[in-house]
Amino acid sequence: MSDSFESIDQRYESFVDQLRGQYDLAGALHLLQWDQETYMPAGVAATRARQIGALSALLHERRTDPAFLDNVDDLAAREDELQPMQAVDVRETKWRTDRQRALDTDLVRERSRLHAEARSHWIRAREQNDFAALAPFLEKIVEMERRVAGCIDDSRDPYEVLLESYEPGMTVESVAQCFMQLSADLRPLVEKLPAVSEAPAHLTALEGQFPLGLQRSFNRHVAEAIGFDFAKGRLDVAVHPFTMSIGDDVRLTTRYDEKDLRYSLYSTIHEAGHGLYEQGLDPDAYGLPRGHACSLGVHESQSRLWENIVGRSPGFWEHFLPAAKEIFPSLRAATLDGVLRSANEAQRSFIRTEADEVTYNLHIILRFDLERALIAGSLRVADLPQAWSDGMRERLGVVPPTHTEGVLQDVHWFAGAIGYFPTYALGNIYAAELAAAAEKDLGSLGNLMAEGEFRALLEWLRMKIHRRGQVHRGRRLVAEAIGHEPQARALVDHLGRKVQLLEE
Ligand code: ZN
Repeated sequence: MSDSFESIDQRYESFVDQLRGQYDLAGALHLLQWDQETYMPAGVAATRARQIGALSALLHERRTDPAFLDNVDDLAAREDELQPMQAVDVRETKWRTDRQRALDTDLVRERSRLHAEARSHWIRAREQNDFAALAPFLEKIVEMERRVAGCIDDSRDPYEVLLESYEPGMTVESVAQCFMQLSADLRPLVEKLPAVSEAPAHLTALEGQFPLGLQRSFNRHVAEAIGFDFAKGRLDVAVHPFTMSIGDDVRLTTRYDEKDLRYSLYSTIHEAGHGLYEQGLDPDAYGLPRGHACSLGVHESQSRLWENIVGRSPGFWEHFLPAAKEIFPSLRAATLDGVLRSANEAQRSFIRTEADEVTYNLHIILRFDLERALIAGSLRVADLPQAWSDGMRERLGVVPPTHTEGVLQDVHWFAGAIGYFPTYALGNIYAAELAAAAEKDLGSLGNLMAEGEFRALLEWLRMKIHRRGQVHRGRRLVAEAIGHEPQARALVDHLGRKVQLLEE
């Protein structure tokens, strides 16, 4: 029902109010979820689940409110009357709401029940190395995701429809092409690395005794130095580190190991990279798509850029090693070379989340190939463990001895997230491209970092990526920032320099 007496500007204004109201509710929900993962006392889990459920239901109601959807449709139909930036907000909201509307309530309910059930069985099955217990759930999930894709758009490859939930506008073909190139180019680099069983037994420079309190202050010092604003954010502890935005309040988390500085430092820098992106969004577009991060792949490009390209580089350690030596007695005798080797240690191993920068992408490409085959029906769930072992042997030359260290290691598939994995490697590809383009504009990033100058890089990212929100889809946003279509080459060059450093 369209109120034709309303001007397009009035319509757009009420749409903005509706979106901001939803964003405020989402912020309140995020605060409850953040607290659940950080400070919540264990005894109140059931009440918290109720509170989260109540707010989620309210948010769902707002997002599916006929008055809101009517507004979205009306504005979308009159797109040519809108200002270009208004059109971005409408286009992205319309795309998202159309996808939601394609799924009926019963299907959505059935799907979340299935995911919750599979996820809870996954925890036990992983502990007990029991793939057979999970196979029936995974079969149902694959079937369900095919159905979901069909409801959204039955004229396209279902895997691509699922992929777009995480990386809108991305095609399977461009991911596949990029990954094929990456896979081929990485092979000679990966062959030079030791397998997990042959890795040296001695401790590296960043291993030793690092008291937690000292690590906390060092992490904070590093996050602040690269530009994270603690007046609008925090750094706390969580078992699985994450970043969460509560409006413009950005919460980072990390985890600690007293014997290994890398464990907390690199998850802090990774999460701070996500946090810098969130803090760099356009405040005037609060709650709107153009004031929102672009995609998971672009988000991951920011975390990986700061974690790997900045945080593991010679320039970074030239700047921070003196301060680290002051803080940690175990580092007093450490050399820059030793620290760099330790920060960049690489080996062919089984677990994705513990993998180094060089081998990481091969873990992703394996998952991309397998999940695509599952959705296409060319791989049966029952044959998945064998396909996993074959894929690991072929790509990394190592075969996990158990399902726990193999096909059961990640929760994603068992939580229904099929099409998610590629965004991690896209993040790495984008990160390397962005760093290379920034270097062309700013001069040697290594020199800037060695002087403790991180501002110029951050400002460059703010201008090219953060401030632009969802003005374009991920691939196009990055292409505009770097001046050409993103390719795997920049990442391979970056990793080649890493492997060379380890060989010297
Ligand atoms: Zn991340």
